Amino acid sequence: MSLRAKRISSLSCRFNQPIKPRNAIIPGYPSRIISTSASRELPFSSRFAILPCVYKSRFRHFSYLCPSSMGSMGHSNPTRLSSKEDYATFVSKFDTFLLDCDGSSSLRARLMIGVLWAGDRVLPNVRETLTYLRNQKKQIIFVTNNSMKSRRAYVQKFKKLNIQATEEEIFGSSYAAAIYIARVLKLSKDKKVYILGERGVEEELEAENVSYAGGTDPEDRKEFTEEDYEKIKPDESVGAVLCGLDQHISYKKISKAFTYLRQEPTVEFIATNTDSTYPTHGTFFPGAGATTTAALEYATKRKATVCGKPSQTMMDAIFAKYELNRERTCMVGDRLNTDIQFGIQGELGGTLLVLTGVSTLEDCEREEIYPQYVTEGFGDFAVLD
Ligand SMILES: [Mg+2]
Repeated sequence: MSLRAKRISSLSCRFNQPIKPRNAIIPGYPSRIISTSASRELPFSSRFAILPCVYKSRFRHFSYLCPSSMGSMGHSNPTRLSSKEDYATFVSKFDTFLLDCDGSSSLRARLMIGVLWAGDRVLPNVRETLTYLRNQKKQIIFVTNNSMKSRRAYVQKFKKLNIQATEEEIFGSSYAAAIYIARVLKLSKDKKVYILGERGVEEELEAENVSYAGGTDPEDRKEFTEEDYEKIKPDESVGAVLCGLDQHISYKKISKAFTYLRQEPTVEFIATNTDSTYPTHGTFFPGAGATTTAALEYATKRKATVCGKPSQTMMDAIFAKYELNRERTCMVGDRLNTDIQFGIQGELGGTLLVLTGVSTLEDCEREEIYPQYVTEGFGDFAVLD
């Protein structure tokens, strides 16, 4: 038996289902032709260009797999969903689905990474699955760590992708941070938040009537000058520093935040999320956790309070807002160390890993984080429709 065959056989045992390699389209790479329904999601001109597209996880999980050790978090033997009965039983167990959503794609790199969409393309049968779940009276909450977009901006994104969603159903890390600052910390009205982040963070703070500085202020995006050594001083009106993904990060902003975090009385240190990477355009860029938060934690020797997945600060905020039954709530995501860990630590009734995203089956072993269920893609539930 070849090494590759052994790995597939080993994986098949582990996940209770036979796993067959896909037909190779690109020589040397097992891959999958996007179904007719998937092709309908794309502009006509793109349909043929995307044909050799491979889901990252789907070729990676054939490449190196050695399932062996017991996991330290979650179910070390996840149930693999594949038949209609599997999906029906799974759906019947839950009333609420917390869905991760963001993803990225690149025609050039032939990659689609995500749960609901990849870049501007809805993944195959996702709309049908969402419609089915809504018809079954299931509650859907979109939970995202992307702090750059507010709930309002997400509604526009959903609209553009022709996916039904209301602001009430969206829970982002910038919203979680705003809730935490306004309703948990109850930041005094005479204090403001200094932001390292984008417009999404500002919008959510505005919605909670929290005043802020920094963020998209053009002054803070300017080059650092000699005068700034004199100008940047502690500011008593700053009550918290909030770090998100900031695409205009500057030495001036970092210096201001650093100065505020060192002053007395103590200024709160909060992060929207600590994702190490930001998947976009079919590849990865540094995430909020690897840039703004990491720099300030290192410089100040302080630890930020994290509001995004997998932090339970976000879970507590979700449960406070929606009053859910924990046992009948399932977290669905594509990333083990955010989505799945979030669901496990939150002691939800279930966690489902979809293999169209960041994490692969071999990552379960490597990260020792195991979902309760695994499926190829979120669109697979459309088989029930
Ligand atoms: Mg994701």
